[in-house]
Amino acid sequence: MRIVALAGGIGGARFLRGLKAAVAPGDEITVIGNTGDDIHLYGLKVCPDLDTVMYTLGGGIHEEQGWGRTDETWSIKAEMKEYGVGPEWFGLGDRDFATHLVRSQMLTAGYTLSQVTEALCVRWQPGVRLLPMSDDRVETHVKITDEAGTRAVHFQEYWVRLHAAVDAEAIVPVGADTAKPAPGVLDAIAAADVILFPPSNPVVSIGTILAVPGIREAVAAAAAPVVGLSPIIGGAPVRGMADKVLAAVGVETTAEAVARHYGPRGAVGSASDPDGGRPAGLLDGWLVDTADEAAVPAVEAAGITCRAVPLLMTDVEATAAMARAALELAEQVRR
Ligand code: GDP
Ligand code: CA
Repeated sequence: MRIVALAGGIGGARFLRGLKAAVAPGDEITVIGNTGDDIHLYGLKVCPDLDTVMYTLGGGIHEEQGWGRTDETWSIKAEMKEYGVGPEWFGLGDRDFATHLVRSQMLTAGYTLSQVTEALCVRWQPGVRLLPMSDDRVETHVKITDEAGTRAVHFQEYWVRLHAAVDAEAIVPVGADTAKPAPGVLDAIAAADVILFPPSNPVVSIGTILAVPGIREAVAAAAAPVVGLSPIIGGAPVRGMADKVLAAVGVETTAEAVARHYGPRGAVGSASDPDGGRPAGLLDGWLVDTADEAAVPAVEAAGITCRAVPLLMTDVEATAAMARAALELAEQVRR
């Protein structure tokens, strides 16, 4: 079976680890990773979400933190500080630096981000085919208003430096409108037997991937069933700032509202976009946590088959059970 998953960082990577444990030998997993969080620092290209997936599946992740390398040291950062060179708010450890050096060196030599990602994965052997959503530069920016006035900041600055403490007024995936899907992305979606949306951020992770022209359309048109898992439990994100970025796009922070935001397969427009400027909805199936069981009828009334199962990724076994529930639901909604 060919499984395609769209993925952000921590939520996506942890889910994928469970998915790997749940699938049968011979099943192939292709991951389309968000690159809207990418940032250039010290002349290096940093791809936080691709690296989180690669390190998590390859056994190199800092487990408690959820990002960066295990057993990390911070000598380079300390030396940069001595030179007065920032940003101090972004944590790049010594071991992590090596990844960004290799990536940047290869990009400078003319390789594409897809080729570089494949090369990095030769070391990490993540057990999935990891594709960036695009080889073109896309950077998510967040419109905010604070003492310094109204301005747009890089998503990393919003999240890591400002801790999402100010409201997000708009989310703009700069460059997405002219970006092309990376080689293999549209083919993987078209050839998939199942398409999964892990419990990744619906706006700045999955939403950014879907903003690359052609990807949303390919998912909407795919022969495979599309099943998503809610990152929202009991009206709040399990971790992170999904509530802030959902508010910026006019979507309530509930499992039901996120399902409606993705929209039912075949439906044009979506509840969160009443002017209907967008192509068809995306979901055949949606999993909510058992805490949100009361939302099931409303999601089904919206045209999306819905089940309530435990959705906390407390360990690999609990996460594998989530993945099995998603694959089972995919079989039930297969047309
Ligand atoms: P990021 O790029 O590191 O922010 O990671 P993702 O976009 O892939 O995932 C972030 C989302 O994962 C957040 O909205 C969280 O609510 C969600 N999340 C994290 N842990 C869990 C969990 O155990 N269960 C569920 N259902 N969602 C989770
Ligand atoms: Ca991210």
